[in-house]
Amino acid sequence: MWTWHKSKIIKIVDETSTTKRFWIEVSDLEKIEFRAGQFITMDLPIHKKRLKRWRSYSIANAPDGTNILELCIVYLEGGLASEYLFKEVKVGDELTFKGPTGVFTLPQELENDIVLICTGTGVAPFRSMIWDIFEHKKAHQKIHLIFGTRYEKNILYRKELEELEKQWPDFYYTVVLSRERDWAGYQGYVHPVYEKLYQKHEQTKFYLCGWQNMIDEAKERLLAMGVEKENIVYELYG
Ligand SMILES: Cc1cc2nc3c(=O)[nH]c(=O)nc-3n(C[C@H](O)[C@H](O)[C@H](O)COP(=O)(O)OP(=O)(O)OC[C@H]3O[C@@H](n4cnc5c(N)ncnc54)[C@H](O)[C@@H]3O)c2cc1C
Repeated sequence: MWTWHKSKIIKIVDETSTTKRFWIEVSDLEKIEFRAGQFITMDLPIHKKRLKRWRSYSIANAPDGTNILELCIVYLEGGLASEYLFKEVKVGDELTFKGPTGVFTLPQELENDIVLICTGTGVAPFRSMIWDIFEHKKAHQKIHLIFGTRYEKNILYRKELEELEKQWPDFYYTVVLSRERDWAGYQGYVHPVYEKLYQKHEQTKFYLCGWQNMIDEAKERLLAMGVEKENIVYELYG
């Protein structure tokens, strides 16, 4: 059984006009243990029925030995949690959550190249994994993050990921914009990008995170490229 924890919101920052970063401090622990890629499930006061109150959010920071977690959450119009988290909660409010849990994590030994494909806040678990490898100097092969969103103004964690790419020869960062007309990088959806770059994929492992349409299409296209099923791992947000 998972334990329920009490936490307090200690900081909220607008990452874009529709996405916020929330920092929560776990009040009943000095240190919160988790593996990069895992998520927590919050019990939010948004419904009378318990199960309808639960919402899961990936942890966006790397494990760092503290009791602070960062979440990166997008506002979905009309969504119960979205309305609550974007219009009601404020710094100092308490949140109850269970976890961290989840199996969307990297192997202990990173023996293969990894391609991390996401859209929107699907970048959250990948940010945790990337910083975990970088900060803890974990042995790894090539790491390629492919991030898709609509417009340039929606790119999440852009500055730090661009900086990381400059500092770290094994890390590659590609942004794909589906609606931005004036963009020198890749335009359209994420799919043609990995199709073009990874026709030769051998033991490359593909990790996918985001919403149903993107995940379904990516799984289908990767399989069509001949990627083995066990080399496709995904986390579905909804
Ligand atoms: C393992 C996991 C990890 C996740 N991690 C993250 C994360 O890191 N970041 C993140 O942003 N999300 C994440 N999610 C998604 C998150 O859990 C929620 O599903 C998301 O925040 C939407 O919840 P909601 O209550 O706002 O929407 P819900 O109320 O659940 O509604 C879902 C959809 O229905 C629509 N809808 C609902 N009510 C109405 C209405 N009255 N009228 C019109 N449309 C309506 C909403 O627009 C929305 O698209 C994760 C999900 C899982 C399973």
